[in-house]
Amino acid sequence: RQEQYHKLRDLPAVTRDGVEIELHMNAGLLVDLQHLAETGAQSVGLFRTELQFMLASRFPKMSEQERLYRSALDLAAGKSITFRTLDIGSDKVLPYMTQVEEENPALGWRAIRIGLDRPGLLRTQLRGFLRAGAGRPLRIMFPMIASLAELEAARAILDREIAQLKRHRREPPSELKVGVMVEVPSLLFEIDDICRSVDFISVGSNDLMQYFFAADRDNKRVSRRFDPLAPPFLRALKQIADAARAASTQLTLCGEMGGKPLEALALLAIGYRSLSMSAAAIGPVKAMILSADLRLARALVMARLNEKSTGSSLREGLAQFAEDH
Ligand code: PEP
Ligand code: MG
Repeated sequence: RQEQYHKLRDLPAVTRDGVEIELHMNAGLLVDLQHLAETGAQSVGLFRTELQFMLASRFPKMSEQERLYRSALDLAAGKSITFRTLDIGSDKVLPYMTQVEEENPALGWRAIRIGLDRPGLLRTQLRGFLRAGAGRPLRIMFPMIASLAELEAARAILDREIAQLKRHRREPPSELKVGVMVEVPSLLFEIDDICRSVDFISVGSNDLMQYFFAADRDNKRVSRRFDPLAPPFLRALKQIADAARAASTQLTLCGEMGGKPLEALALLAIGYRSLSMSAAAIGPVKAMILSADLRLARALVMARLNEKSTGSSLREGLAQFAEDH
């Protein structure tokens, strides 16, 4: 199997009916970057910067952050990296950060919420990105944004750092793209505005699903009760894809869902053309894409999503389809 996937490495991910799909890789540590060449991934679609913070015994200094980001960009050798600002809190705790007791940590003080309340922390990280990205293209993404107002507040902090960079006559990135993770359901109700305000969006289906169904993603008792291939969730995902297309905003999905062949097939069917996943998932997903007739898959999925009565998950139908084709 592994060898088979290796043979696919240099083939473009194109469906049998000629639709090209971008496959990107998720990473968080420098060692992950060797998989870029191994898998043939187009870029790092999600760099989880909290890994460095979780492994450290104190807050990494700006210079340490900058060094990591620069090394990552060097190792990526011309492929782009989408750096996500710190996503701590909830399940990701930093032992050296004052612990706040919360009844519902997943709904609490985490990710961009901490960044906006402790702007020094966010500013330091953004400065690290900007310095590491001097003279080359840079992509920055904000996690757990729940409203346009939060996005604008984060963006304002970034703009201040960019102005600071200029004042110090430091070389800026050759190109800066700013994006947002779509992983809180409230964003779906202002998704058009969100799409118009950024260069790209990336769907965090792990968290989006957890908040969509109100089911803890790490609690097996409830997380398995819900299926990402259920029509209501697919409709929500399609709404995001439609909005991104209408606004000509780049769209990716970077949750676990995109790394599972059947789920990935459903995503292609509702309009996704770019997926970011763990390195190990790229081979199996590419194999699926090479054997898929997207026109047929789309007809099957859309027929189900347009039915008056919602019905159950599309899993069985898609599994049968995959077997038949
Ligand atoms: C997600 O929520 O889908 C995601 C990609 O981010 P994380 O798993 O790091 O929360
Ligand atoms: Mg998330």
